[in-house]
Amino acid sequence: MPHDSHSRTVEECLAALDSRAGGLEPAEAAERLERYGPNRLPEGQRRGPLRRFLAQFNNVLIYVLLAAAAVTAGLQYWVDTGVILAVVLANAVIGFLQEGRAEAAMGAIRNMLALRAAVIRGGQRLSLEGAALVPGDIVLLEPGDRVPADLRLIAANGLSVQEAALTGESVPVAKDVAPAPRDAALGDRHSMAYSGTLVTQGTARGLVVATGTATEIGRIGQLLSGVEKLVTPLIEQMNRFASWLSLLILLVSGLMLAYGYYVAHFAFVEILMTVVSLAVAAIPEGLPAVLTITLAIGVQAMARRNAIVRRLHAIETIGSVSVICTDKTGTLTRNEMMVAAAETPLGRFVVEGEGYAPQGRVTPEGDLSALGLAAALCNDAHLRREGADWHCEGDPMEGALLAFAGKLAAAPGGWTRRDAIPFDSRHRFMAVLSAGAGGRLVHVKGAPERVVPMCGDIDHALWLDRAEAMAAQGQRVLALGAMEPAGDGIDEDALQGGLRFLGLIGLIDPPRPEAVAAVAECRSAGIRVKMITGDHAGTAAAIAAGIGLAQPDRVLTGADLDRMDDAVLEHEVIGTDVFARTSPEHKLRLVAALQANGLTVAMTGDGVNDAPALKRADAGIAMGLKGSEAAKEAADLVLADDNFASIVAAVREGRTVFDNLRKVIAWTLPTNAGEALTVMAALLAGHALPVTAVQLLWVNLITATTLGIALAFEPTEAGTMRRPPRPRDAPVMPGVLVWQVVLVGVLFLAAVYGLFSYAIDRGYPLELAQTMAMNMLVVLEIFHLFFVRSLYDTSLTWRAVRGTRVIWTMVAIVTLAQFTITYVPVFQSMFGTRPISFGDGLLIVGIGAAFFALTEIEKQIRLQFRR
Ligand code: ADP
Ligand code: MG
Repeated sequence: MPHDSHSRTVEECLAALDSRAGGLEPAEAAERLERYGPNRLPEGQRRGPLRRFLAQFNNVLIYVLLAAAAVTAGLQYWVDTGVILAVVLANAVIGFLQEGRAEAAMGAIRNMLALRAAVIRGGQRLSLEGAALVPGDIVLLEPGDRVPADLRLIAANGLSVQEAALTGESVPVAKDVAPAPRDAALGDRHSMAYSGTLVTQGTARGLVVATGTATEIGRIGQLLSGVEKLVTPLIEQMNRFASWLSLLILLVSGLMLAYGYYVAHFAFVEILMTVVSLAVAAIPEGLPAVLTITLAIGVQAMARRNAIVRRLHAIETIGSVSVICTDKTGTLTRNEMMVAAAETPLGRFVVEGEGYAPQGRVTPEGDLSALGLAAALCNDAHLRREGADWHCEGDPMEGALLAFAGKLAAAPGGWTRRDAIPFDSRHRFMAVLSAGAGGRLVHVKGAPERVVPMCGDIDHALWLDRAEAMAAQGQRVLALGAMEPAGDGIDEDALQGGLRFLGLIGLIDPPRPEAVAAVAECRSAGIRVKMITGDHAGTAAAIAAGIGLAQPDRVLTGADLDRMDDAVLEHEVIGTDVFARTSPEHKLRLVAALQANGLTVAMTGDGVNDAPALKRADAGIAMGLKGSEAAKEAADLVLADDNFASIVAAVREGRTVFDNLRKVIAWTLPTNAGEALTVMAALLAGHALPVTAVQLLWVNLITATTLGIALAFEPTEAGTMRRPPRPRDAPVMPGVLVWQVVLVGVLFLAAVYGLFSYAIDRGYPLELAQTMAMNMLVVLEIFHLFFVRSLYDTSLTWRAVRGTRVIWTMVAIVTLAQFTITYVPVFQSMFGTRPISFGDGLLIVGIGAAFFALTEIEKQIRLQFRR
């Protein structure tokens, strides 16, 4: 592959790679893909499974446990040692699996975000995965695209590229097709667009001269960024909390050791064992791993709902959004456009047909060939036929115009494009200069307010009124014009007043039915929905009414926004749901105004210019299909299907993840507290321990590895989308949760201690009383699990009691394990247990049920006050 492409002419480069303007033939491309390999950079080194597994042991809590195991081994308490080592191993396995799951989740996301490129092959425009590019391919570039391979430009229109990824220079540089000096530095090779750089303006065509590791970015040894670590602010906060809590527990354990030995006069070995098991029971060693599993499951659930998380904090913020600002075209609507009407100086025409098929009647008869030619030439899209179906490559609106031109039999044979002003959502029109047998023509299409005033041959007010009337029916309206150019380029000034009016075209783009439902769901979830569009006010209002926005008739336009200062806007933004004829700059102001009202803002975007607003928003959401690479990179979340309903699905998943994080915490902390309080109470009172050290270790092991993980898999609660959004600064551990830790801890203590005393009073042997107490502890933890599952609602519904497969599997495992160590003789001698009679078994379950009833009633009382 030539490394001096920048200094050679376009023709030389095409010849060197045996390519042509129409691109490679598919067979040629396949053969080259074999030869050159996929256009991909090597991945960063991953740690092997063994190293990842061993890394799980590198953790202070594990050190504490290992020290405890060494102590017990030294004392030849083999069962204790075994159980502690089992705890260590279980933790490592859970941590290992959690990491695997997290990596799988993030890896799948990276695949979903794989770069796509618009390519010309066999004379046809196609959208391909970036990895499929080969040297010799012809690639199309648009604003916002990430350049997919090293390209020698063969055509360029006002192209600017930001090359920071390669040269570190963040100011975009202008590009054109003329050869650059042979010795030009990388940053000065204006005839090249390098892989990994970003198109900020203009359009171009480029010949692929290098792919994969042969590209400049590949040659500087750039690797794909490694897997992002699955942490969010909340997880970090919890990890810090867990560390401090562990420290506190160690300190208290030390004090208990001193007290037990010096004051209560326990035998040293006995008190040491007890304190060790106390520490093991109280330290929430599994919590960080389980929280991460919860997040990983959330990431996967969102991906299944077409919402791809790019920045992990978005899992938390998306659940708390209180206003969603959304694009219209393609997000609320289907973006399957069709020309429905045309209005020209000759009269009004109705257009019939299905989808993108270029067949259908246009009535009444009339000569619309000039309009059809403009629609076909001022166009970057391409229609492709697959059997009976027609598909559109490129902008669906332009695809619709091609279908319309086809219906008029205005095929643009023999024209070549000489110059173009690409569409930009700021100037809202597009112009193309084409040359053909009949001479040269400039065609302009765009928003009527822009194009009608350029036309020198019509009554502007009359035609703007007509455009308005079409828009009021919910149609997207375009005005088209033409003129003979003076030179070989488009002169923007000459367009003003020099254009000949060809007509108005009305396109329909029906609302997505699922968007209507999603808007309604937002309303019940206390989330406002605002539409921000570049389209006409009338069109926007009609669509807004169709999908059920709260205030469709109050429309502010970009011009209105420009007249308002920030203070006025801050006030007005609340009462308005439709913003029309806006530019990307307005989005930024709207986000800021909404945030100033204390709202948590989700904002969608697709263009390069949307990046600042996406970054500013609390949750920036980019379109995966029509969105530019620039927008995707600025966003926190990418919608694989561009669908508004997917945003709402992501909100639901975000709320579910946050709830599940809370549930994991709400189960772990009180149960740990309950276990610890029981031991401490016995020590302080100088009684025999109701649960022995080894039994406590066992309970901790069996419940933490089953019940503790079950909550990570909880489905969305029924009322999740009927609650208002949680405030942005809502703590993970609200006062209620702290209160619950205390309440549940005390109830655990009362139940376990009560049952133990009862058994002793009945004259049961100590071992039996301890066995009963240990089983009591486990039963309480199971009941508490069911309580926590419905954190916001009653647990006494069929849905709540029925549970999930995960829950029942875990409960079954725990139950089986408890029966085993209670009734199987080998385990009885290891754990010092005795068989419990059927009646006492019922008593234990009964106390568990009573505990459940108490906590549930307490929850009901609280819920009553909240209403
Ligand atoms: P939206 O918010 O609906 O995506 P856009 O910013 O894409 O709005 O478009 C705004 C207006 O610009 C449209 O109403 C239309 O009049 C005009 N327009 C959109 N796309 C094109 C195009 N490819 N060529 C010419 N004009 C266009
Ligand atoms: Mg658009």
